Amino acid sequence: MVRKSEKKIKKLSRSRWWITLPLIVLFVWVVFELMNAAMKETLDTLMEKSLQTDYQAVSRLADFYLYGEENGDEKIAGYLNAVDADWFVTDGEGNIIDGNRENTCSDVKATITQTDLVTPVVIHEDTENDVLYVKNGKSLHIHYKKFWKRLEKVVYEEDKDHVDVDISHVSDAENGDSDLQEKIEFNLTLKDNMYLPLWAEVPFPDGRIFVGKVYFRINTSDLMLLAIFTIVIFVLLIFLVIFLLIRSFHLRRKQKKMATLYYTDDITGGRNWKYFHSVGEEFLQKRKTADRAYAILDIDFVKYRNYCICHSVEDGEKLLQKLYTKLGQNLNKREMFAHYGSANFAVLLEMTTEEELVKRVRNLMVKLENAAPGRQVRFHIGIDMIPANVDENGKKKRRKNIDLEKAYNNACAARATLSETDESGIQIFDEHLVKAQKWEMLVQERQYRAVEGEEFMVYYQPKYDPRTNRLSGAEALIRWQSPSLGFLPPGKFIPIFEKNGFITEIDHYMLRHVAEDQKKWLDQGFSLVPVSVNVSRAHFAESDLAEQIRDIVDEVGTPHEYIEIELTESAFFDDKKALVTIIKRLQEYGFAVSMDDFGSGYSSLNSLKDMPLDVLKLDADFFRGEFDDTRGEIVVAEAIKLAKSLHMRTVAEGVEVREQVDFLAKQGCDMIQGYYYAKPMPANEYEIRMQTGIKDPEAEKRAEEAEEAEFEDYEEDTAGADSEEGSDGESAVLRNLLKRK
Ligand code: C2E
Ligand code: CA
Ligand code: CA
Repeated sequence: MVRKSEKKIKKLSRSRWWITLPLIVLFVWVVFELMNAAMKETLDTLMEKSLQTDYQAVSRLADFYLYGEENGDEKIAGYLNAVDADWFVTDGEGNIIDGNRENTCSDVKATITQTDLVTPVVIHEDTENDVLYVKNGKSLHIHYKKFWKRLEKVVYEEDKDHVDVDISHVSDAENGDSDLQEKIEFNLTLKDNMYLPLWAEVPFPDGRIFVGKVYFRINTSDLMLLAIFTIVIFVLLIFLVIFLLIRSFHLRRKQKKMATLYYTDDITGGRNWKYFHSVGEEFLQKRKTADRAYAILDIDFVKYRNYCICHSVEDGEKLLQKLYTKLGQNLNKREMFAHYGSANFAVLLEMTTEEELVKRVRNLMVKLENAAPGRQVRFHIGIDMIPANVDENGKKKRRKNIDLEKAYNNACAARATLSETDESGIQIFDEHLVKAQKWEMLVQERQYRAVEGEEFMVYYQPKYDPRTNRLSGAEALIRWQSPSLGFLPPGKFIPIFEKNGFITEIDHYMLRHVAEDQKKWLDQGFSLVPVSVNVSRAHFAESDLAEQIRDIVDEVGTPHEYIEIELTESAFFDDKKALVTIIKRLQEYGFAVSMDDFGSGYSSLNSLKDMPLDVLKLDADFFRGEFDDTRGEIVVAEAIKLAKSLHMRTVAEGVEVREQVDFLAKQGCDMIQGYYYAKPMPANEYEIRMQTGIKDPEAEKRAEEAEEAEFEDYEEDTAGADSEEGSDGESAVLRNLLKRK
């Protein structure tokens, strides 16, 4: 499952800064359109206002033209031709049929079609023009000196009978005629304007069109303002666009940086799990990878924290960087890897067969181990496999629902099952592991309650001297009577406790219970033998272990000689110095110390040299199967000899047959702990063993038979009377023995 944040970052890392370009263009376009519409509207309003008077003038001129035409007034016609106003008449189709000028409009005749005042047609520029209009005998003569320039003079003349326009009037105005001056002043408000010549059309009823020149006047300062305003807006817009471009570019760069950071591991500087998860999942979902099988690995640097303690955290991190580089060098382009965190790496490898994969992983492991020359580093690797996805015709099918996190979790789960002492260091995930994991969870959930509820029971397995058949010791072995999980042998939970650390609690629990039992039996007058208690290897990290043991036993008040401590052979691989110190202190406090499982997988002859142990327990493996192997006998005989030379007593474990007992007795083995003599048993049965003291299974067998015969006679004698005694063989033998005693 891809997390939300991952999705977001993926999006971010993929987005390109130029994607915002169309948005900016769209924005500029919208602003332009808005400005355009606003300007147009302003211009239209301005034009309407400005052209109104001119249009009226042109329409009056048109009226005048029509009036003269209708009345055949030559004078008017003459006058219209004489005046310097620009006007002409078209036939409605754009052909000029009359006018005061040459065809001023011909070059653009096709465009003279509009009648809309507010959108007049610009024909061309001129340098000088007059506009005249007459209505009700009044005439107006406007003299413009220049188009595009300022209005120089405006003359207004009123004459009822006579229409005349004379340039000289301008002079009059200039000469200071007060009447005119007033008018001039009125009209002079038009000063400081700019003029845009336009053609205005006045349609005649017969379809002809009178076209006269009008001037669109704009106040220069207004125009300037407008221009400045437009320029400012334009410049601002350009700045805004540049700013937006830079910003979006920066933003994208920042986002990319963020995405890179999000995917970067801060210890190795390489890719982190988030990258691996997100990119790896996508990669595996691609059709092109569907026909390839992949393996996902969890590589764990065993005891990385200890490495950091021994050297330094900085050293540890440097080594992690090296490992990261090493991984990169040993993978191909279609594979990937990342630093998961702490001391774990996630790796995705292409694979063909399981054998080939394991071989490659082993090689990889060797290369990683060589990354720290002169220093001992070890790795545990868990593997989960992602098979190729092809149908029966060999066609690729996309792995749509790949869950890399789950696969990696499986690899981790597989890796977690490896014990510290595992030699291969490689574990492939399978369904049994799932079961084992579930069981582990179940046990873990119940462990504390089990201690509180005293669900753990101490079983005692007696140790006998094979030469005398006398009880000479016992080992305390745990059993779990769980209300929900049932009766459990230690193999079902001890390895789990060893892994999760709860074993230290259990060892204390057992020690306390054994001490209590021994104390009770001592007080009851039993003839006690030492009972050995297993102390897990995990305990040896605690430097005050000897004191902890002493205190627990002292709290109960059991004499130390009745408690023996068993250390498993693997414990001797840890810090030897510390171990020697603990052993010596235990001995100082009066506890005997034994080496458990001697000869099981580890060669600890060397440890024997340094460890001042009291007892050597030969592993059950020596006595498994047929015991006619002379080589095996030689090894056992030599081991016993060796122990004797080192002043250690020997205990042979797992002895089941008479021949082995005889052989061991001959070799001078001090004790035998095995089914031949007794299986581990609950405390009440062990009490009977203590009472009997001597045990000879052969004699027991005979006694058992005798007892049975006796019992039959008795049964016959008592005919139907119930025996209160237990009916199992073991107690019958014991009763018999007790009787004889
Ligand atoms: P271990 O300490 O080596 O204990 C001896 C194991 O060998 C016991 O198994 C015992 O029942 C078995 N055994 C003894 N004689 C014979 C024999 O003749 N034939 C066969 N087939 N087996 C024999 P158990 O009780 O199942 O304990 C298994 C292991 O669990 C122990 O091996 C020990 O490592 C661990 N364990 C048991 N109790 C404790 C405990 O209280 N603390 C710790 N730390 N570990 C414990
Ligand atoms: Ca043991
Ligand atoms: Ca053992």
